[in-house]
Parts: sequence; structure tokens; C-alpha cells
Amino acid sequence: MIQIYIPLNFLGVVYREIKQNLTDLDKMFTLMDRPQEVADAPGAPALQLSGPPAVRFEDVRFAYEPARPILQGVSFEIPPGCTVAVVGPSGAGKSTLSRLLYRFYDVQGGRVSIAGQDVRGVTQQSLRRAIGIVPQDTVLFNDSIAYNIAYGRPGASRAEVEQAARAARIHDFIAALPQGYDTQVGERGLKLSGGEKQRVAIARTLLKDPPVLIFDEATSALDSANERAIQAELRAVAAGKTTLVIAHRLSTVVDAHEILVMDAGRIVERGTHTALLAAGGRYAGMWALQQNNGENGL
Ligand code: ATP
Repeated sequence: MIQIYIPLNFLGVVYREIKQNLTDLDKMFTLMDRPQEVADAPGAPALQLSGPPAVRFEDVRFAYEPARPILQGVSFEIPPGCTVAVVGPSGAGKSTLSRLLYRFYDVQGGRVSIAGQDVRGVTQQSLRRAIGIVPQDTVLFNDSIAYNIAYGRPGASRAEVEQAARAARIHDFIAALPQGYDTQVGERGLKLSGGEKQRVAIARTLLKDPPVLIFDEATSALDSANERAIQAELRAVAAGKTTLVIAHRLSTVVDAHEILVMDAGRIVERGTHTALLAAGGRYAGMWALQQNNGENGL
């Protein structure tokens, strides 16, 4: 019995250590999500950017498991400083696009490039410094709310943290807490709502100020007033940045430079909101449905 207990106990200690020290998002993805084979090419240079870059997917093919292709030849470009939005049914491969851009995985065919540089040919550190992600579900560390916002730019001053929180419209909420910015959050502290967590993510991203932005919209519907407010904040964050929006609500995509409608790993329709409505196809159908359902998720 003791022979079993000791290793189990050791595992428990390791698990607690990992959980407590998990303050680096990249490390977390390494543990949870990222396959080991994604590594810097020998002697890879840093990504070179001057201003917001173009992001390009060229005939991208990808599968998590060989027997099940997920992306089957996806091509699109986000011009510098523009927003491209992706819509489509659950499982179509929308979030996979963001994972390939951030290089959690490598493509199996075609290429993904930023400012003409293949993401596989530059250092991961420089790539990830250039990209900000506002994810579906923001991870909060067991630390103060100030720390959680400053994570976007380690070393940021309290004044900079507050400024970002104001812009993300979460400052008043934080200031009203008894311990303000020193309030402990995360699973051992104050639990934040979905909308509040997204605002923390927006504040983090504002501090990081990356030239490329990925916004993976939460599937879980916020109430519509909250939703509209968050969209206004996001528009402000995305201004002038090259942005990929994975959208679950069509109201988010109306102003996009281009909307991609995906189904089963392929782009089945593309165009501006107005052009797609006029075309009367898949997107127009989704739009009509969502208007009838009062802005619920797709
Ligand atoms: P949703 O709107 O529900 O978020 P999505 O269009 O973003 O869906 P993806 O998350 O890109 O879909 O997933 C596409 C397909 O890939 C799904 O069928 C999913 O089950 C599969 N998939 C996603 N991640 C993995 C993984 N790590 N391993 C194996 N299959 C995966």
C-alpha cells in the first residue's frame, strides 16, 4: 500500500506545484494543448514587423488526427489593420484557424504567414509577442486582479494597469471592491463573471498592444447590454490592428472587411455583410435566423 501511496502522494505534490506556479500562459498551453513537435527552426530569426502586418492563409490543410481532416484548403488574407471575421457552425474549424496563427500546431499543407514571413520560420517568442488573444474563456491566475491585468505586459506600472482597466470599462468595478486592485481572483479568490473576465482579457491585451489580434468570441451568451458594451470596447482595441474574429454572434461581424463562412473545414461563402446579404445564401439565412431569435448565439 505504501508503495502505491508514495508515488500518488508525489504526483499530488507535483500537481499542486504545477497548478500554483502556472503563471505563464505559454507554459500552460505547452502542458495542455501544444504538441511537442512545434519548435523553433534552427537559427530562426525573430518576426520582423513595421506597423500592422498582413496575415495570410494560403491553401491551409490541417488535421489533429491523420484520419480526420479539419481544414481542407483554406485561403484568405487580412490586410494590414483590417478585421476579418469567421462564422459557421460548431466544429467547422473556426478556432483551429486561430491556433494555427498562434502556432500551437503546424499546418500539414499550405502556409500561414505574417507580413510575408511563414510562422514556422520565425521564433515562437517573437510570434507570440506580436499576437494578442482575447480568448473565449480567460484564464485567471490565483493572484491579485492587478497582476492578472499586468500579465499583458510584465513590469507595467499600477497607473498603466488602471488606464487599461478604464479603457476596458472594468476600473469602476475593481475600484468598488474592498481591496480594489489587490483583490485576489481565480479559483481561490473572487470569481468573476464571463463578461468581467473578458474585460480583464481586453485590459491585458490593451497593455500588450500587439499589432495582430485574435478575438475568439465567447459562445456563452452574455446579456445583450453587456454584449454590446464589450463589442464597443473590442472595436477600440482592434482599431488599427490586424484582427481575426471568431464570431458566434453576427452582430460582431457587420463591420468586418471580409466575412468568411466556414463549414466542415472549407470556406463556403465570403464577402462583406452587405454583399453576403444581397447574395441570399448561407450567411443571409443565418442572419435572418438570428434576427428572429433575438441575437442569440449561432
Ligand atoms: P465552435 O464554434 O464550437 O467553437 P469551431 O468551428 O471553432 O467550433 P474548432 O474548435 O476549430 O471548431 O474544431 C474543429 C474540429 O476539430 C472539431 O470537430 C473538434 O472536435 C476538432 N478538434 C478541436 N481541437 C481538437 C484537438 N485538440 N484534438 C482533436 N480534435 C480537435
